[in-house]
Amino acid sequence: LEAGEYGPETPGRVIAHFGRTLDVQAPDEAALHRCHLRANLDGLVTGDRVFWRQARDGSGVVVARDTRDNVLERPDPSGRLKPVAANIGQILIVFAVEPAPHANLIDRYLVAAEATGITPVLVLNKIDLLPESGGELGKLLARYAALGYAVVEATTQGEHGLDALHDRLTGRTSAFVGQSGVGKSSLIDRLLPDEALRIGALSADSRKGTHTTTTARLYRLPAGGELIDSPGIREFGLTHLDEQQVTEGFIEFRELLGRCRFRDCRHRNEPGCALLSAVERGDILGERFASYRRILDSLADD
Ligand code: GDP
Ligand code: ZN
Repeated sequence: LEAGEYGPETPGRVIAHFGRTLDVQAPDEAALHRCHLRANLDGLVTGDRVFWRQARDGSGVVVARDTRDNVLERPDPSGRLKPVAANIGQILIVFAVEPAPHANLIDRYLVAAEATGITPVLVLNKIDLLPESGGELGKLLARYAALGYAVVEATTQGEHGLDALHDRLTGRTSAFVGQSGVGKSSLIDRLLPDEALRIGALSADSRKGTHTTTTARLYRLPAGGELIDSPGIREFGLTHLDEQQVTEGFIEFRELLGRCRFRDCRHRNEPGCALLSAVERGDILGERFASYRRILDSLADD
């Protein structure tokens, strides 16, 4: 290649993005290629699969975006939803033995994840602090397992505390979400001991440390699998949802939703409501239905 000339179109993955500048990685290659976007392209995010052409100096130009399996969005400061990452295989909702989780908060995260179409997984961290009996927390987890959700226990303490999590991460693209203090940073530090440092250093040199804390970044995990992480993604779940998303986000409600007597049933006190009958029969847990009501009530305040 001559200077300024580009090679053939090849597949790549967006590892990070900074406005119209992207870091692209080719499959089975470690190097990152600093790319700019062809003029007619816009809105690419970390995790996007793209086609790009490499220049002689290793940089490149992204010429097309491949189709997306899904996209994770967050509101920008004006409240408009903006994509922040694409092609995520699973959202790991992290909570901890301490501070003890509220079921309602777990339900909120699940609803938000269900609205994206991305599979949620519950990660209970700090199990080193779990009392011998398991207690209330054990019952809570059993409730979600019965609904069909995967529940993974983890601890950053000790040598084998992350074995189950490693299994769950392998072969998938994951994002960690959850309240502050549950141990997300600690988990990620353990999962990415060297790579996090290496890429952190690279970011600081090559772009003077700007943007590096806000933009999403994709990491290949040494033990297999990928992690997409950013402060904005960690806060996912606190975004606005509408009533229909909340209703459909309770997965055990779904098969009942067409069965209420009134097509516009809001499942409050209408006669012939399929959800209310299911609660009465015990097919829907009273706690989950109460949690549903609480989330709906909170929408009015958003
Ligand atoms: P984040 O806000 O979710 O990123 O949480 P951090 O990773 O900052 O962790 C919050 C606190 O929990 C820190 O003091 C950690 O040392 C502690 N922590 C993290 N993981 C564990 C764990 O598995 N067991 C225990 N006992 N403490 C943990
Ligand atoms: Zn109803």
